[in-house]
Amino acid sequence: MLYNILIVKYGEIGVKGKNRYLFENKLIKNIKNMLKPIGKFNVYKEYGRIYVDLEDYDYEEVIEEVKKVFGIVGVCPGIRAAKDYDKLKELALAMLEDKIEEGYKTFKVESRRGDKDFNLTSQEMSLDIGGYLVYNVKDRIKVDVRNPEVKIKCELRQNHVMVYSDTVAGYGGLPLGTNGRAMSLLSGGIDSPVASWMIAKRGMDLEAIHFHSYPFTSEKSQEKVRDLAKILAKYCGRVRLHKVNILEIQKAIGLECKEEEMTIISRRFMMQIAERVAESRHCDALVTGESIGQVASQTIQGLTCTNASVSIPVFRPLIAMDKTEIIEVAQKIGTFETSILPEEDCCTVFSPKKPVTKPRLERIEKSESKLDVEKLIQDAIDNIEVEDIEF
Ligand code: ATP
Ligand code: MG
Repeated sequence: MLYNILIVKYGEIGVKGKNRYLFENKLIKNIKNMLKPIGKFNVYKEYGRIYVDLEDYDYEEVIEEVKKVFGIVGVCPGIRAAKDYDKLKELALAMLEDKIEEGYKTFKVESRRGDKDFNLTSQEMSLDIGGYLVYNVKDRIKVDVRNPEVKIKCELRQNHVMVYSDTVAGYGGLPLGTNGRAMSLLSGGIDSPVASWMIAKRGMDLEAIHFHSYPFTSEKSQEKVRDLAKILAKYCGRVRLHKVNILEIQKAIGLECKEEEMTIISRRFMMQIAERVAESRHCDALVTGESIGQVASQTIQGLTCTNASVSIPVFRPLIAMDKTEIIEVAQKIGTFETSILPEEDCCTVFSPKKPVTKPRLERIEKSESKLDVEKLIQDAIDNIEVEDIEF
């Protein structure tokens, strides 16, 4: 089929009342951005819908990109031609022939008349086009108006006609940049990239903060985080990555605190540093990839201690997800292969043999009182390196 247009369907944002046009404009901008690596596309709004002109580009390649834009629930490849009712019937027939070839056995025609001056109603159009199709394809495919395998959608508008049938599902969500900004704690693991993606999907712009213990952790492990941020940038436009060396902090904890408290205390430092960077970057929340009970530091007591170190909202989209479910998303969005590369993390380098699983906040706070927390945090912040990551 020679598709020349994409029809973009968006869900939730359709119901946002007078904000609707803002959302649509954002969506159009985000689609254009997503398509930039392929080419310059005409993306526009018409009759309360968004269209993408395909020009000579391969439609499957373009759909693959467009469907990644948050806020889109589906993308339909279609054929549009100058307004001519007979042409519409011809296109519908060509589309149906394709479907027969693909092995479908039942179909129905759905029509829309956007031009009220046209002498057939939508209903009459469906009957007329359906009749024409049946006459031409004979009994190679049958009409089933109740439960058709295929719908041939025909539209007659003021200036053009259009036929489409398939819908490729998008990820849903809300257009990027319509719900504030989040600072995501991005490790090199499987979880935090998924958590970041899920929050961005709800319309939040994303920044990332990564903690390392260079030279105890390698350049390569930072490279890996950069690669993950790059994959996220595909969905998020651009990701600013803040890289924080916490080696001095970990050394201090190692000297002054119980070995078993290392993970939980360094996690609390990470959160506080992230909170301050978030505030300076006008982020409204932190994001982590934590999930109840997954590891020692993620027991309810562990999470309670982590949470108590900051006052900014902390979003944990994976909190109730199983590892297998998280992996499924990681594979779908393309971060999994990078996440499983064997690079050490600052937590693994300094991880205690037997971490506390039920830390008590008073005890942890007491241990921390031996440290010059403020100075350690400030020193780490003073040495942050920043990088803007684009896809
Ligand atoms: P992940 O797969 O995201 O690394 P995890 O299962 O390994 O998660 P933890 O190591 O306990 O779990 O980390 C919990 C969360 O804390 C991570 O999801 C991430 O948001 C944050 N975090 C942990 N280590 C780092 C780090 N080095 N830099 C930034 N954030 C981190
Ligand atoms: Mg980890």
